[in-house]
Amino acid sequence: MALLIDEECINCDLCPTECPNEAISMGEEIFQIDSSKCTECVGHYDEPSCVAVCPVECITPDPKCKETVEQLAEKYTGLYG
Ligand code: SF4
Ligand code: SF4
Repeated sequence: MALLIDEECINCDLCPTECPNEAISMGEEIFQIDSSKCTECVGHYDEPSCVAVCPVECITPDPKCKETVEQLAEKYTGLYG
C-alpha cells in the first residue's frame, strides 16, 4: 500500500530527503507521495522512514492504493532492476 500525506502536513520539509525512492515532492499546497514510487520502504527499511520523521503524523496508508508486501517488493524491483 502506498502512503498518503493528508492536509495536516505543515510543509516542514523533513520527509522528502528521508525517502529512499524519491517519491515525495511538493504539490500545489502540501507535499505529496508518488504512489508509483512508494514501496512503504520495502526493499530499504523495516518501517516507512517518512512516517518516522513526520512531526504531525499526517502520513497514512492510501486506501486507494492497497498493495501486498509482495506487490511492494515487485515495485521495488521495477524501480531498481
Ligand atoms: S514510505 Fe518510504 S518509499 Fe514511501 S514515501 Fe515514505 S519514505 Fe518514501
Ligand atoms: S514530514 Fe510530515 S509535515 Fe513534514 S513535510 Fe513531510 S508530511 Fe509534511
